Amino acid sequence: MATLRFNSLKEASSRKAVKIEKEPNRHSELYCVNVFDREKMRKYISKEAFQGVVNSIDDGTRIDRKIAAQVANGMKLWAIENGATHYTHWFHPLTGSTAEKHDGFFDLTDDKANSFEDFSAELLIQQEPDASSFPNGGIRNTFEARGYTAWDPSSPAFILDRTLCIPTIFVSYTGEALDYKTPLIKSLSVLDKAAVDICGYFDKNVTKVISNVGWEQEYFLIDRAIFNARPDLALTKRTLIGHASAKDQQLDDHYFGAIPERVLSFMKELEIESIKLGIPLKTRHNEVAPSQFECAPIFEEANLAVDHNQLLMSLMKTIGRKHDLEVLLHEKPYKGINGSGKHNNWSLATNTGVNLLSPGKTPKNNLQFLTFLVNTIKAVDEYNDLLRASILTESNQYRLGGNEAPPAIMSVFIGEKLTEVLNEIEEKVSDKKMTPDEKTELKLDIIGKIPEILLDNTDRNRTSPFAFTGNRFEFRAVGSSANCSSALIALNSAVTKQLIDFKAEVDKILDKHSELKKDEAIFRVLREYIISSKKVRFEGNGYSQEWADEAKKRGLSNIVDVPTATSAFLHDKTVKLFEETKILTKRELEARYEIRLETFMKKIQIESRVLADLAINHFIPTAIKYQNTLAQNVSSLTALQIDDITESVKPQIESIKKIGKHISVIRKEVKEMVEKRKEANRIESIEKKSQIYSADIKPYLESIRYQIDKLELIIDDEIWPLPKYREMLFSL
Ligand code: ADP
Ligand code: MG
Repeated sequence: MATLRFNSLKEASSRKAVKIEKEPNRHSELYCVNVFDREKMRKYISKEAFQGVVNSIDDGTRIDRKIAAQVANGMKLWAIENGATHYTHWFHPLTGSTAEKHDGFFDLTDDKANSFEDFSAELLIQQEPDASSFPNGGIRNTFEARGYTAWDPSSPAFILDRTLCIPTIFVSYTGEALDYKTPLIKSLSVLDKAAVDICGYFDKNVTKVISNVGWEQEYFLIDRAIFNARPDLALTKRTLIGHASAKDQQLDDHYFGAIPERVLSFMKELEIESIKLGIPLKTRHNEVAPSQFECAPIFEEANLAVDHNQLLMSLMKTIGRKHDLEVLLHEKPYKGINGSGKHNNWSLATNTGVNLLSPGKTPKNNLQFLTFLVNTIKAVDEYNDLLRASILTESNQYRLGGNEAPPAIMSVFIGEKLTEVLNEIEEKVSDKKMTPDEKTELKLDIIGKIPEILLDNTDRNRTSPFAFTGNRFEFRAVGSSANCSSALIALNSAVTKQLIDFKAEVDKILDKHSELKKDEAIFRVLREYIISSKKVRFEGNGYSQEWADEAKKRGLSNIVDVPTATSAFLHDKTVKLFEETKILTKRELEARYEIRLETFMKKIQIESRVLADLAINHFIPTAIKYQNTLAQNVSSLTALQIDDITESVKPQIESIKKIGKHISVIRKEVKEMVEKRKEANRIESIEKKSQIYSADIKPYLESIRYQIDKLELIIDDEIWPLPKYREMLFSL
């Protein structure tokens, strides 16, 4: 008997939804109760200090020591009044998750006679966790092991589990970024400046442009007991074996269906706790695959949105456990059914309240809209490889191109109507000075009608990795487990560079041709961009083979292999982009490249070890057991010496042979895979090593799995040791 499997199923089926204590009447009452937001700051610090923090958030001015001391004191008072005993700097190392090191407020006087609660400006502003235990891509070898975290005033502190968490950046002692937040903040600041400069063509009142992000988080849930009965899920977060369930998502009966009771209870608690922490969760629903769900907040400023997504992912895990649920954030936990993504909805908004990716009422506003639209398209075309590198990871590779997620070809979808507008500009704008009639036609007939066409633009293309959806772009290729920063740093940098180049070109034309109006110069450059970036635009079915063929003809790359795709981090063009925009140095890029390859390689190594263990210690013994049962059956039947007995034992003998074949292939392949690993591990260069892991070791994961999944179809269900797909997918 497969005791662990059957016990876990029994445990799962006996569970009831966990009741939530104190369900609030209104979520709005709970918003930010655990956050040291502006409202609380006003109460706990002086007017002067408050203004200092606000200026720092809005204009990036430095906060001086005196003000920091006041903020620290105010934060401490508020935190202690609200039950916090500890504080921590909370940061995003390149592991992709968050890190924290707690210290107590508790302290003693020098003579140890009295105790008190302490928290100073020094402790707020800076701490020194040991950088050597976090991925650093060799930065610590050449420089110093020490790293420090520094307060990010633009993301408010919050209380979680009686600990005051202070969002910080994490850099090496020599100033290199060791985290996601540092380059993200830099990218937001250069993008702000580049976009403000462009807005200067249209509206001089624009002095700040912020980037807004709304992510949609997809995930799977599974009962905790069943999860624990699967070593592959527990150690790699995805199933390495398991034959498809007879029924999974083919009837489309899960999407937007009634949410199971246990899940709803989990979602409610998640929402309550999220809203208290300032994460404005708004949407929840079932996703396409069985046991797959999604939640999404109201969009926020990008840096805050990223912090909130990181916080949400860790909240999901802890709250999930209270409900005996395990949250699977892996992009592809189950083979053959939909994986999980995290759409990043991205737009740019001005301090004057204009969304630059939303068309306005006047032709002037629409020209501004077109400028940002076309420059973003051009940026995706120019930095295609970088964008792919920013989202392609070991786990996301199983999802991309899987006919439920966009392919690894980075294209842009803008809808039929906007395509028409761009086509018209392409045809009607010329290098010659336009006549007044031509100008009117362009302005009124072509771009004047944009708002109307977008109002009823229900065009949606789910198969595009980067789609325009009416007032924002949706970067859909981002993986569900990813820190959004990686994708956003790439996107912000690319768009920044594009906007800078655009302005230089427009200004050059204006310098040369003083007779031209600004609009005409803008039109000319836009037209050039529309033509030169045309190949990246695609409106059809991104899942189809025709698109892969067509993309190849257009010269768009289609790289699924992680080491190859990741090498885009080191392309000259990428280095130039990041150095010019001062977001990352070459050294930092090299470090990031190395870390990504290292993580990729280690993940395959772990998967390969787990699979070998499952194959040799779980499935081969089970297969032999069943083979013996069959052999016994054959010999007892044969001993009966009745007529036709050879005929009736034939199927059993066939099965014995089949099982034998599978066993021997599994043994052979596991041995080869282990040998290849040993060979690869002797190689120094991480580049070569990860290539071998990708090309020579990863394929064994599939081929060994194939054999085990075939065994699952032959062997007695009673003795199959691990929960099956139908049991995992329908456990809730
Ligand atoms: P979908 O129809 O794609 O499922 P939703 O209505 O669920 O879209 O919204 C997806 C996310 O997009 C939400 O987080 C929402 O706040 C965000 N969003 C909406 N408008 C914008 C915008 N202008 N900029 C950035 N994000 C936005
Ligand atoms: Mg969406």
